[in-house]
Amino acid sequence: MTKRLDSQHVIYAMSSAHQPVMTVQSEEEIEIQTCDCFENQIQDDTQDFGRLDWERINPATGPIYVENAEPGDLLIVSIKKIELANHGVMTTGPNLGVLGDELLQNVIRIVPIVDGKVIFSDDLHLPVNPMIGVIGTAPRSGSIPCGTPGEHGGNMDCKRITEGAHLILPVNVKGALFALGDLHAAMGDGEVAVCGIEVAGKVTVQFHVIKGESWPVPMLINDDTIMTIASETLLDDAANSATKNMAHFLEEQCHMEKAEATFLLSIASDLRICQVVDPLKTARVELPRWIVEKKGFRFPELQNS
Ligand code: CA
Ligand code: ZN
Repeated sequence: MTKRLDSQHVIYAMSSAHQPVMTVQSEEEIEIQTCDCFENQIQDDTQDFGRLDWERINPATGPIYVENAEPGDLLIVSIKKIELANHGVMTTGPNLGVLGDELLQNVIRIVPIVDGKVIFSDDLHLPVNPMIGVIGTAPRSGSIPCGTPGEHGGNMDCKRITEGAHLILPVNVKGALFALGDLHAAMGDGEVAVCGIEVAGKVTVQFHVIKGESWPVPMLINDDTIMTIASETLLDDAANSATKNMAHFLEEQCHMEKAEATFLLSIASDLRICQVVDPLKTARVELPRWIVEKKGFRFPELQNS
């Protein structure tokens, strides 16, 4: 039977000091309910933007203690299912997002979600592309706001974190203290308005702990593609870090010389932007999975519960 975690258990920062609200075994499936990134405070597009409680932004549901996860291990988070509420919300305005210096007022839009489509306007119905914005583990010490991405995961706003993907995160503290939230019904690379279609929902995940490996984190793998993700103050640095992480992975896991790995990335990988609007910017490198498998890398066979 799948365990369920209610969305009333929220944190606003990833921290080693938090008490876990649930303990799960490796391979156990768990359904996690999530609020949207405004903690469901916006239900109407005429609402007063100035009266939102900005202390309640980017809640993540958790933290979850994963049995047998010890500092230095890696945590594989397999995303089995993402279910969305029937409407989402978008906001932008002065000082928000890429157009923040040109926008004159705050705008809120409620976006209905019907039969796998987001009803953006009367004439534009776009396919959903459900993804997880905030997903991570606790850092070794201190706390990192849920709105900030980093090596621990967090607010990466990466549109490849979807159903069917496996995210690899570091275990920095005993039990990992995992949390997630901030689902998007749709988002493009960049997240230029400062939001996707922000939506409440449910995510079913399964955890696996891996011992004795030191892959670069965060890493993401799906049926076709392996990805390294990195976040830095400047997008240029995030792009460099994501690329270097993948190059180091090829050196260590595929036994390639550095120049050889660099050549390969230059011809076969795509360097892409995740988001440019959070406190750190996030980039990723996407490489076809068959290439690393041909070079000897084996992603573990994951047991289903
Ligand atoms: Ca986000
Ligand atoms: Zn979001």
